[in-house]
Amino acid sequence: MTRAERAAAVVEALRGVYPEAHCELDFSTPLELLVATILSAQCTDKRVNIVTRSLFQKYRTAEDYAGVAQEQLEEDIRTTGFFRSKAKSIRAAAADLVAKHGGEPPRTMEELVALRGVGRKTANVVLGNAYGLDEGVVVDTHVGRLSRRLRLSRHDDPEKVERDLMRVVPRADWTQFSHWLIWHGRRRCTARWPDCPGCEIRELCPSAGKV
Ligand code: SF4
Repeated sequence: MTRAERAAAVVEALRGVYPEAHCELDFSTPLELLVATILSAQCTDKRVNIVTRSLFQKYRTAEDYAGVAQEQLEEDIRTTGFFRSKAKSIRAAAADLVAKHGGEPPRTMEELVALRGVGRKTANVVLGNAYGLDEGVVVDTHVGRLSRRLRLSRHDDPEKVERDLMRVVPRADWTQFSHWLIWHGRRRCTARWPDCPGCEIRELCPSAGKV
């Protein structure tokens, strides 16, 4: 099986296994998703959702985030970890949104990654999940690990993994594909104890029983 054939088969298999897969960060606006995604670095979605429940009540606009003192925002997001750099990123991105985009996250990759504190992964999450635009594939730790186990990429660098996936996964599935791998990575193909015997896609996986 070539890499492209395997990718196509994996896409169809996971579509059937996880028809309900979706972004597990709670949000109701693109701005909220941008903030939640920045907070999700090195933190569980569950913890982020606990913090954002009150955060989103307190800060409703980009102006609110841009105007708050660094120390105050640090306090509000402390339990998500790395709170100093996350607070800095949120305030800087919000200031750029106010200055250049009328307070709303823009809809292009180019404009999103030009915001301070926003990288390609965050931009992909916002474009795919808040705007429904398949501009790239979100590569987090699960997507990277599963892509290597499924031999869809040999790379460790997330941007190189993303490039490999964009070559073999149909564009219309880019956003969903990332959710499918994340869901499978959490439920079945965990970092330490992959459940190969119980895995729904083991027939397609070159690493089955070898990790
Ligand atoms: S067969 Fe094993 S390594 Fe391959 S995807 Fe399934 S759980 Fe992961």
